[in-house]
Amino acid sequence: MIKNNIFTIRKLLPSPVTIVAVSKGRTVDEIKEAIEAGITDIGENRVQEAVTKYRELLAPDSQLPAIKWHLVGHLQTNKVKEAIKIFDLIHSLDSIKLAVEIDKAAAAINKVQDVLIEVNISGEQSKFGINPSEAIGFIKRLTEYKNINIKGLMTIAPIVNDSEQARPYFRKLRELKDKINELQAPNFKLLTLSIGMSDDYKVAVEEGSNMVRLGRVIFSRQ
Ligand SMILES: *Cc1c(COP(=O)(O)O)cnc(C)c1O
Repeated sequence: MIKNNIFTIRKLLPSPVTIVAVSKGRTVDEIKEAIEAGITDIGENRVQEAVTKYRELLAPDSQLPAIKWHLVGHLQTNKVKEAIKIFDLIHSLDSIKLAVEIDKAAAAINKVQDVLIEVNISGEQSKFGINPSEAIGFIKRLTEYKNINIKGLMTIAPIVNDSEQARPYFRKLRELKDKINELQAPNFKLLTLSIGMSDDYKVAVEEGSNMVRLGRVIFSRQ
């Protein structure tokens, strides 16, 4: 089932789009099945759950190909040290306080941590992420942190009845990325747009997403 889901989705998406299989609440065996079907990127939203699965998947007898780990959920500063050890990409940088901690923890292990800036594009109070109007100033301040590498932007669309209703939010995020890139800061270009989940990934890709975060459409019976 997981394999079929992945083959079906892969056929629908242009090849530059990275599929992050979001495996929160799923077992290591389910993750293995996804990897066997060609998934190279695994997403988790809790650090502790990810660490446990990471260790199991990387057991010395494991025959699995190397995969990339993504933190798609909110990151608390007291979890940063653990997170830095395993995640290739953190999708949820949204405060200077968090940036300070990431930079410090990454420097301590000689790592440059790839991150995405989480933007609260819909402005809903319940959501994490920086306000779009603050994005440029925020990114300018981040350039002083040498152990952080900003790869792009991430957002979570509001819950809507029809995925078409998410389109304007995705478009706004792409326009924000373009605007930031027009500033042409030296050595700096945002390339990644992490938008689109199970209910709205097709619309997100039409609006320029090159990284979709998929849970249910991969791991549930369709
Ligand atoms: C759970 C989760 C997803 C995947 O959600 P689905 O709707 O199951 O595809 C994507 N992004 C984040 C941040 C999540 O927490």
